[in-house]
Amino acid sequence: MDAIIADSIVKDFGSVRALDGVSVEVAAGELFFLLGASGCGKTTLLRCIAGLETPTSGTISFGERDVTTLPPHKREAAMVFQSYALWPHLSVEKNVAFGLEERKIPRAEIRQRVGEALDLVHLTGLGERGIDQLSGGQQQRVALARALVVRPKCLLLDEPLSNLDAKLRIEMRREIRRIVKEGGLTAIYVTHDQEEALSMADRMAVMNRGKIEQLGTSEDVYRNPHTAFVASFIGETNLIKGRVVEVRGEYAMVKTEAGPLVGRVTRPEWQPVAGDDVTLSIRPEAWHVEAASGENGVTGKITERSYLGQRIQYVVDTPLGPQQVVELNPHVVREPGETPVRLTARHADVAVLQVQMQVNMR
Ligand code: ATP
Repeated sequence: MDAIIADSIVKDFGSVRALDGVSVEVAAGELFFLLGASGCGKTTLLRCIAGLETPTSGTISFGERDVTTLPPHKREAAMVFQSYALWPHLSVEKNVAFGLEERKIPRAEIRQRVGEALDLVHLTGLGERGIDQLSGGQQQRVALARALVVRPKCLLLDEPLSNLDAKLRIEMRREIRRIVKEGGLTAIYVTHDQEEALSMADRMAVMNRGKIEQLGTSEDVYRNPHTAFVASFIGETNLIKGRVVEVRGEYAMVKTEAGPLVGRVTRPEWQPVAGDDVTLSIRPEAWHVEAASGENGVTGKITERSYLGQRIQYVVDTPLGPQQVVELNPHVVREPGETPVRLTARHADVAVLQVQMQVNMR
């Protein structure tokens, strides 16, 4: 088990800057996620760590070892791809044994290690099967066993569940986490699926345009987004424009189209001052629907309702624009119509975010 440290990584493909000075430290034994929209650079960063790309500048270390220029097979890292890249004409056992045969490991040891790897991914006894006799989820387990059999210190996963149906994906999330933790591996997992990341990650980095925009635990990133991009990429949110009137400690009063709202400054290294333009982020479940007039809120009318059993989703038309609202465990089902409703939010549930200059890099 090794820590993985990427320091100031820049990667250019011709005139395209895919990575723009990325630094990240993944702790030994951590399951770490790289998350972001298509083209943000997450696969490129993973490939630099695997040794499949060489950074234009910056260094990559595994523990104390600088591996920046080491070829992939000398890094003790194994990669699992979206397309499992299995040999369809070989048995499960032969597929898993492939990396060990290449390394000229003695036959008896190969048999033992393949057995252990199949046990770990819960495919005990299926070694003789052909790849085409397996379900999608089982094929993904074979790909994992093949990566694990070489006893890597680091496991690098590139959208490993994208080819599975929704139910299997959820089952395999638990499985991959178990395998990483039982195997004592340091793992980096690339996905654009925020739910996968929220449910599995020890920590995650949200990437945008070749940079890490925020890094933290699932709970921290969800509850304390630092930018509007992160707030809307991780989970649903309502974004509201405003201007700071007054700041008290970590709380700020913000003037909006519908009067003042008090919120919390979520990015510790930023201190707003009166007059700053800001964006407020309010999660759909942070809005409470009330009939009476409550403090820290806005009045509107329900225009849409979707009843989903354990929750109800409403769209409420307000002077701040349409607000997405979610009521969990609803006891009252409200009707869309003319009757005004009041949406209110706790101060701590309103994130006050700095308005960022959008610099177009490409
Ligand atoms: P996706 O989720 O679509 O896989 P990503 O976040 O993994 O996206 P990357 O594949 O890392 O993104 O790509 C980052 C940027 O670098 C993109 O603009 C992409 O077009 C560019 N890029 C990646 N690989 C190459 C390459 N071999 N040659 C030229 N440009 C590349």
